[in-house]
Amino acid sequence: MTAVYCGYCGKGLEEVDHAACTKRLRVIDPPRFCSACARRMVVQVTPSGWTATCSRHGEISSSA
Ligand SMILES: [Zn+2]
Ligand SMILES: [Zn+2]
Repeated sequence: MTAVYCGYCGKGLEEVDHAACTKRLRVIDPPRFCSACARRMVVQVTPSGWTATCSRHGEISSSA
């Protein structure tokens, strides 16, 4: 799937500068928004990292 929205703030990648978001996502935070549809994802923290599930696009995880 093509990333169109920021996984951290949910805004369009072209709309605003996401340098700070990218940094946060890389360091610690799981994405809260699906990068394909900007739906709010269900985030679960696991012993090995995290999983985030979009009701439409399925699950992604920190190990993927
Ligand atoms: Zn952002
Ligand atoms: Zn989605």
